Amino acid sequence: MLGAEHIRIDEESRARAAGSWDPLLAKAKQHAAVGGGVGLPATAEAVVFPGDTESVSALVRWANGAKALLIPVGGASNVVGANAAPPAWAMAAGRGSVVAVDLARLNTVRWDEESLLVHAGAGVRLAALEEQLTGHDYTLGYLPQSLQLATVGGAVATNAVGLLSARYGRQRDLTVGLEAVLPNGDVIRTRPAPGASAAFDLHDLLIGSEGRLGIVTEATLRMSPVPRARAWAAFTFASFSDAVDAIRLIYRSDARPAFLRLFDPEGTTAPGPEVPLVDRGQHLLVLAFEGDELVQTGPYQVAYAICQTIGGQETAEDIGEAWLDANRAGTGAMAANGRPGGVADVLALSAPWSSLKAVEAQVRAAIEPLATRLEMQIGHAYPHGAALDVAFEAQAEPATPEAAMQLYTRITAAGLEAAHDAGASVTHHYGVGRTRREAFLRERGAAGVAALRAIKSALDPNGVLLSL
Ligand SMILES: Cc1cc2nc3c(=O)[nH]c(=O)nc-3n(C[C@H](O)[C@H](O)[C@H](O)COP(=O)(O)OP(=O)(O)OC[C@H]3O[C@@H](n4cnc5c(N)ncnc54)[C@H](O)[C@@H]3O)c2cc1C
Repeated sequence: MLGAEHIRIDEESRARAAGSWDPLLAKAKQHAAVGGGVGLPATAEAVVFPGDTESVSALVRWANGAKALLIPVGGASNVVGANAAPPAWAMAAGRGSVVAVDLARLNTVRWDEESLLVHAGAGVRLAALEEQLTGHDYTLGYLPQSLQLATVGGAVATNAVGLLSARYGRQRDLTVGLEAVLPNGDVIRTRPAPGASAAFDLHDLLIGSEGRLGIVTEATLRMSPVPRARAWAAFTFASFSDAVDAIRLIYRSDARPAFLRLFDPEGTTAPGPEVPLVDRGQHLLVLAFEGDELVQTGPYQVAYAICQTIGGQETAEDIGEAWLDANRAGTGAMAANGRPGGVADVLALSAPWSSLKAVEAQVRAAIEPLATRLEMQIGHAYPHGAALDVAFEAQAEPATPEAAMQLYTRITAAGLEAAHDAGASVTHHYGVGRTRREAFLRERGAAGVAALRAIKSALDPNGVLLSL
């Protein structure tokens, strides 16, 4: 159906398609390397590379008849095991193959310069797209740190968010139109017209659905002219509470930065080149403003004055650009997973301002006793609240993959439960996958989960895509 040259069954291709940066997968592979078998997802029996939307549709129709499970694959950069097939799949009676659907050949890019829109195939790498756009003085602007790894389809399917989200929004804000194949093989195209009052919208349902409700084949994205100027400001604060108040007041005014990041003392003292910060041992808030000219007036001055009023001390301005350059493609946060006994992850929480400080304190109390390193950053803010990135590292004793899996599960369960109890949501970015599933189901509640499952089974009665 697809042409034999577009089907691979070699081990390397199958392993790549089943790959991700999921810490539990890293541990399971280390366990398998010493003869164990705990936690490995079922590997796809084949990886297929459809070349157009019609081929994806034909494949999905075939999967319905063959009772196969299709797993869409982009850059395999997700960190939550979003593409992990259930380990029991291979044994389940009456089921067909697991087939990974790599969208890499859907790589066309078309422009509508007049409307500031770009139509990009699901398999286009974000970095390649951004390079094409900046070559013409446009930008997507949002810069996820996995820009070099992730694809357009994967970013839509995980509703990704980038370093410049404050100005450009996240994937949902950028995505104004979609082409996707539904689980029955039908193709839908949502129109990139601005605004709609209709509540029933498959477009919104598909964004962030992690390959469970359809296979995205093309996205129409909003692009922006590259701004001419960027100005940085950096302030240190005596406490997390003061720094949070400064961000909250900035967002209460209309002084929207393009970039903001609040580092805790652990973050400003991190070893290595990824955090070249000068003010050690304090809470450091870095802000950037963008525009065509005179960036240091208006909103910049408002934010500057707010930081000073809250007691912030101005510090070297060039910290920000250096940090952004060094961290555009930062992978350091997950490095400890490479050691058999080591674990690391980043919990992406979010909460309204009124709960955020309690979330920070309670999650810190839950994780700190178990971790060798704990760092909390705010990288995305809104008028009503902010996202808190909780990066941890820990070392299991004995230093075995099995002990590390247990330690990882203990830390994430404690951290996510504390976050939930303090009023946070647990999937601000990265999605749900297998590592946030339990916390996600708890957050949605029994009635919410039942409604979501009803939608899933109406769209996908034969279960050709992964279940919720
Ligand atoms: C170093 C590093 C930094 C990161 N930084 C960020 C960050 O700043 N912000 C952020 O949001 N995330 C970040 N991530 C997580 C990850 O990069 C994002 O989730 C990214 O959007 C995944 O895209 P991908 O193409 O790699 O998707 P994959 O990992 O291949 O897939 C992710 C999920 O989407 C599904 N999927 C993929 N393509 C399609 C499609 N065409 N149609 C339907 N479903 C599909 C898959 O089945 C899977 O469930 C980071 C990851 C790493 C490793």
